[in-house]
Amino acid sequence: MRVLIDKLYNTSNLDKNELEMLLNNLTSEDRDYLIDKAYEVRQKNYGKTVFFRGLIEISNICKYDCFYCGIRASNKKAKRYRLSKEEILECCNTGYSLGYRTFVFQGGEDSYFSDEILEEIIITLKKQYCDIAITLSLGERSEDSFKRLYKAGADRYLLRHETMNKELYQKLHPRMSLQNRINCLKSLRDIGYAVGSGFLIGLPGLKLSDYKEDLMFLKDLKPHMVGIGPFIPHEDTPLKDEIGGTAEDTITLLAIIRLLLPDVLLPATTALGTIDPKGREKGFRAGANVIMPNLSPMECREKYSLYKGKVFLGNESAQEKIKIEKSVIEAGFEPILKRGDNIRWKRK
Ligand code: SAM
Repeated sequence: MRVLIDKLYNTSNLDKNELEMLLNNLTSEDRDYLIDKAYEVRQKNYGKTVFFRGLIEISNICKYDCFYCGIRASNKKAKRYRLSKEEILECCNTGYSLGYRTFVFQGGEDSYFSDEILEEIIITLKKQYCDIAITLSLGERSEDSFKRLYKAGADRYLLRHETMNKELYQKLHPRMSLQNRINCLKSLRDIGYAVGSGFLIGLPGLKLSDYKEDLMFLKDLKPHMVGIGPFIPHEDTPLKDEIGGTAEDTITLLAIIRLLLPDVLLPATTALGTIDPKGREKGFRAGANVIMPNLSPMECREKYSLYKGKVFLGNESAQEKIKIEKSVIEAGFEPILKRGDNIRWKRK
């Protein structure tokens, strides 16, 4: 396995068979070696940096019905909310005064957020602050919509492909298609966004070696950001009795992604921090270099319940930001609040 890990380290590449072999045969010593190599590559490209992104969960209203997701349309128990334009701007103003320079708007697929409304929010913010980046994570939209939002000033778009297993994708995402998701990612990239994709770990029926397909897809797409995290069952979804993903598999895959895409921006996700209290720190060691403290209003946090036990990182206070920074420093890394673009990306 060391030969394969060295090849991955030296060439940032493995073919599908090699990835399968690696994923099937990693011993715990190999895994430590893999993580050390990923750490080296992270150091070479980004040093000890951990970029902070202020996350604002703008709505939990969703027209789709993803089987794993706590805010799916059919979950009648979910208490729905939507932030107003003023509330979103207020979250950003508070975040800006704390030092945040990237704001991530994430939400269910809520048709209220038309292009006009989002344009207004983006243009207002970009006029007010010339040194911020705006990331959208609002699901599938038309190419025309992606273009308008980019023109208004949105810089980045996160859209996980979730799984490259076509049959599983179809089963878990009624009225959606993997092909459309892929098309959206390609148009986002062509328009000029810094693009993020990624997948869930531990969806029912998948074993570690199955992620070779997801890794090959990412290698081919060359996204600027990759978000992966364990699937965690939610009690009010059809997948409530499933086991979910492990921190160990997530960390192994983070390390492989760091080696495959050396300059990628790679968050240690909330889901990883939820299943393992030391998950984020382990993620940074394995190559992750982004963290997304939550700037949403406190009263909305519980309602944005994607999975069981979701922890939220931080609140809008200065003390909380200092606490998160301290934990990053204690783990041996350097918190950075400036916008922190991928070194490969420039606005067209
Ligand atoms: N609607 C947007 C989209 O589809 O990209 C963004 C919101 S969606 C709730 C954000 C992400 O939450 C998804 O990409 C999915 O991977 C993750 N997610 C949903 N349910 C989850 C669960 N049970 N466990 C872990 N992650 C989950």
